[in-house]
Amino acid sequence: MKVIRLREGKERSLLRQHPWVFAGSVAKGKADPGETVRVEADDGRFLAWAAFSPSSMIRVRAWSFDEAERIDAGFFQRRLQAAVAMRQRLAIQSNGVRLVHGEADGLPGLIVDRYDDILSVQFLSAGTERWKDVIADALLQVTGCQRLFERSDSGVRQMEGLAPAKGWLRGEGSTTVTLQEHAIRLTVDVEEGHKTGYYLDQRENRALFARLVRQLGCKSVLNCYSYTGGFSVAALAGGATEVISVDSSGPALARADAHVLLNGFDPAHHTSMDADVNGTLRQLLKDGRQFDAIVLDPPKFAPSAAHADRASRAYKDINRLGLKLLKPGGLLLTFSCSGGIGAELFHKIVAGAGLDAGVDAYLMQRLEASSDHPTTLCFPEGEYLKGLALLRR
Ligand code: SAH
Repeated sequence: MKVIRLREGKERSLLRQHPWVFAGSVAKGKADPGETVRVEADDGRFLAWAAFSPSSMIRVRAWSFDEAERIDAGFFQRRLQAAVAMRQRLAIQSNGVRLVHGEADGLPGLIVDRYDDILSVQFLSAGTERWKDVIADALLQVTGCQRLFERSDSGVRQMEGLAPAKGWLRGEGSTTVTLQEHAIRLTVDVEEGHKTGYYLDQRENRALFARLVRQLGCKSVLNCYSYTGGFSVAALAGGATEVISVDSSGPALARADAHVLLNGFDPAHHTSMDADVNGTLRQLLKDGRQFDAIVLDPPKFAPSAAHADRASRAYKDINRLGLKLLKPGGLLLTFSCSGGIGAELFHKIVAGAGLDAGVDAYLMQRLEASSDHPTTLCFPEGEYLKGLALLRR
């Protein structure tokens, strides 16, 4: 077993069961990509069993803080079993569920989403890449699924020195499935969809939106960054009669249109706009339009804290426009999925947008990712999606 020795004082994060060690904290030792290493403090004390990533800034990701534990097929089986058991306790109202959420489930770099009978999986670290076959077999065993599609085509693999990979790892067949999410039906193509296919993290917020649209009697709805129209169909389910989906992805919008029909809603109540959201908001404002409800769910503007400044301005801009386009009494659901923008900062940004727009709003509810995308006490970085439900005064 190869040993990685840390610099003096650099053991603190592992002692607090935080799973990452950055390159600058390593005093000596090296290993192959993904190889299991023993991580020791400066004085030789055991800290963790971990996966080594020679080309990443995050040089070491801990698998276990228990010296007696062995990192083998049984280890992955146990971790996956625990992750799946946790989801069963959540009673999620969908056949689309995140089964493994990386670090939060003790499996750094592994994302597993279950879409009906298909597991869609991202192996994002050298450690998960090295154990891919073991993990794939264990996943089938633990879930009873027979099909596993790999979506390791995310840009973050580059930082690990890994090439993109995409395709069936186990099983084969059609890559499209139908989800029943709360009261709505949605189709997902695990091959062509974003990330693993769909944004499961917004499931509970889409259901909330349907309830609020109904409760508040919202009729006109603008869904910005709509992707395949999850919030749009939710709005129709809530009784909206004029819903506009705006996205820059043509295929996503085609699926949004299909989702309107799939759920039995009148296609005359829905319009898809293949356009940039920022320009569209400005145009709608010029046209003097206003809406009963608006959703702003942009892509990650700040991949890390280093981008927070520019991202803050971008968030402020769309929120300023969104608030202006809201009728008095109207509902705004606004989100940020940037890890680099914390919940407090996001709140401040939106408050600044309100001041600029000359619009005040009641804060109805703070929003976060669905509970199958958990955060843990030891790994606060896992908290990425935050949002606000606002009611214009
Ligand atoms: N709310 C969606 C998920 C949104 S993901 C859901 O519930 O499923 C963000 C979306 O923003 C993606 O579909 C992407 O195509 C779109 N997008 C990114 N930049 C954009 C831009 N400048 N204008 C319009 N859409 C954009």
